[in-house]
Amino acid sequence: MDRTRIEDPWGRRTPFARGHMWPERVDEYFTDGVRAEDVQEWVPAASILDSNGDAMDIAVMDGRMVGVRGRATDRVNRGRLDIKSLHGWESGSSRDRLTTPMVREGGELVPTDWDTAMGRVVERCRRELESKGPRAISFYTSGQLFAEEYYTLTTIARAGIGTDHLDGNTRLCTATAGEALKETFGSDGQPASYADIDHADVIALFGHNVAETQPVLWMRILDRLAGEDPPRLLVVDPRRTVVAEHATVHLAPRPGTNLALLNALLHEVIERDHVDHAFVEEHTVGYGTLADEVADCTPEWAAQVCGLEATDIVAAAELVGGAERLLATVLQGVYQSHQATATAVQVNNLVLLRGMLARPGCGVLQMNGQPTAENTRECGADGDLPAFRNWQNDEHIRQLAEIWNVDMMQVPHHSPPTHVMEMFHHMQEGTITFLWISATNPAVSLPELARIRSILSDENLFVVVQDIFPTETTALADVVLPAAGWGEKTGTFTNTDRTVHLTERAVDPPGQARPDLDIFLDFAARMELTDRDGGPLVTWHDPESAFEAWKRCSAGRPCDYSGMSYDLLRERGGIQWPCTEERPDGTERLYEDGGFWAAPALCETYGRDLVTGASVQPTDYKALNPHGKAVLKGATYLPPHEEPDDEYPMYLTTGRTIYHFHTRTKTGRAPELNDAAPRVWVELSETDATEIGVAEGDRVQVSTPRGAMRGEVRLGDCRPGVAFVPFHYGYWDTDHPTGPPSEADGRAANETTVTDWDPVSKQPMFKLGVARIEKVTS
Ligand code: SF4
Repeated sequence: MDRTRIEDPWGRRTPFARGHMWPERVDEYFTDGVRAEDVQEWVPAASILDSNGDAMDIAVMDGRMVGVRGRATDRVNRGRLDIKSLHGWESGSSRDRLTTPMVREGGELVPTDWDTAMGRVVERCRRELESKGPRAISFYTSGQLFAEEYYTLTTIARAGIGTDHLDGNTRLCTATAGEALKETFGSDGQPASYADIDHADVIALFGHNVAETQPVLWMRILDRLAGEDPPRLLVVDPRRTVVAEHATVHLAPRPGTNLALLNALLHEVIERDHVDHAFVEEHTVGYGTLADEVADCTPEWAAQVCGLEATDIVAAAELVGGAERLLATVLQGVYQSHQATATAVQVNNLVLLRGMLARPGCGVLQMNGQPTAENTRECGADGDLPAFRNWQNDEHIRQLAEIWNVDMMQVPHHSPPTHVMEMFHHMQEGTITFLWISATNPAVSLPELARIRSILSDENLFVVVQDIFPTETTALADVVLPAAGWGEKTGTFTNTDRTVHLTERAVDPPGQARPDLDIFLDFAARMELTDRDGGPLVTWHDPESAFEAWKRCSAGRPCDYSGMSYDLLRERGGIQWPCTEERPDGTERLYEDGGFWAAPALCETYGRDLVTGASVQPTDYKALNPHGKAVLKGATYLPPHEEPDDEYPMYLTTGRTIYHFHTRTKTGRAPELNDAAPRVWVELSETDATEIGVAEGDRVQVSTPRGAMRGEVRLGDCRPGVAFVPFHYGYWDTDHPTGPPSEADGRAANETTVTDWDPVSKQPMFKLGVARIEKVTS
């Protein structure tokens, strides 16, 4: 690898024609001086710094990682790696890894041993449990651990402690994906497959900057664009991104208006009769209600709401309406807004009205952001129940109680599981007094950071943080537990298109750091969590036995892993679930037999009102959908909760750069990646920059009703009236690692974002706020 991949992150083209196999291209990178022939061992893994799940191998020499190489035979990437996968692993040997447990003494974190640290965690957990009950205990996890680890954590939290306060940072990222799939198909699980890119003639990307969020998937699209019979792209994004530059139609709607645009697209598809009536009749319910909902949503109406040209909306509708094979994808531009699920569901509706499901080149990918977000959802570590079980269905609770051998009443199901925004509210109110955070950094990633820092610093809240690096969050913890990182532990993870990879321990973790699984198992043993017969609740002891336990829990459900094993994954590489005795090769596309997981007895949810978020009652769902078809559910557009005014005249949206992952705790420690994007910036259109009186490189302050941050101006292709700030930057590498002493020191985008969320998925609205931007000198 050379510098050119930093400048051209998608690398050399390998064009291919529609319907053909994506050619191989093997990307590799070694640390200085090492050559491929020097490598002593290649250890299988998969990429951890986005949700693509690219298969790769880790090069090991003398007990240390010295390089990586994409695996040519794997279905997901055919050998390619993105620049974060090529370089991000180097952070593992960074000198500031956490290598010893720490406890707070006299206000300071001091190093200690595992017995002391875990003793303190267990003692405090027991005390809160005995005095206040299970609802005082909460767990906030990640989208970066393994399935085995999530399933163990879920078992501990739900069946052991009996708390409903368990969520993942996937709430910030993919909660809407899961909810939208549940609302339409009755259950989570992506209907489509990455291979559908090879066959589609139209790819419609809604709020999905795939070039920066899933670079290897974008390579696949670029290779199709460079080959024969290329697909046409519809891109909906308020910024003129790299993806937008390749669009046949690019629509840049005003923030917060995606639902109006989708309703107009549905209106046009119905009006021009691009509907596959036979498919709709046979496989869906709700067509009449949906058609009524969008009857008045003309392109002219939507053009006014969205700040677009009606003719462009019509062109977009013709593109999707005339597609032979339509693949739609959705990501944060849709998910992190006030009507997120309502909008994502309309994308599902578009695909269903066109009958574009379960055939090569057709379908929908409600994308995930993180590498193991899918596992957080399916293992029940994100506020749902394991294996997509329905908390309102007693039979599903009974199944779980039987799997865990506990009483049904031990598994909380009296109300919907708590989401993280609500958990922090309970902490603020003082009813949650114990919080265990694993592999995430809420002191930079949650909205309205001044509030989050104040909650985490409250002395009545006992905070345990398990991570691989010191972060803004570990700095506020009562106990810090050092964890093993990527390549230092074994487990499976599942990408967006349901492909499961096994990644194996290549090197030892540094110092006293331990795999997250071992930490959870240790906690369960020290807490003496038992089943109803007095035996240990957690009966597994290592990654493979944890995987076998998870397989048993998943059997018979949509995400059925029962046909997989570590040996099979070693032999075959990536396999897509469901994988069963009957389907030992896995399943490329869901719903090929025309059946969904939407029947009342099977579904993961009875659904919610898309506007208010109110749960649909079981009886109403049974009346609506007795035969378990896909549900066409409409929603009325509502304006955003905040709109620009004299004080805050601009929209503010946040997002990512290709060079960093999350809060930069890993990529900021990989020199090539950090050098490529070392500082936060504020992206403005030239029109707005001129109006504000600033030029490229000037420093500006972004102020919102929540707080402020500062960065350098970068002139970009935002829609005029919209500013963009990347969310990766926090404080761990500044002089004030817990947070900014004054507004002038603020550099995290989330100093400014709002504590508000989508009513259905509860995903925070990172992409929708208002701001004032002013020139400053420091
Ligand atoms: S940074 Fe992106 S991928 Fe990660 S949780 Fe946030 S939205 Fe998801």
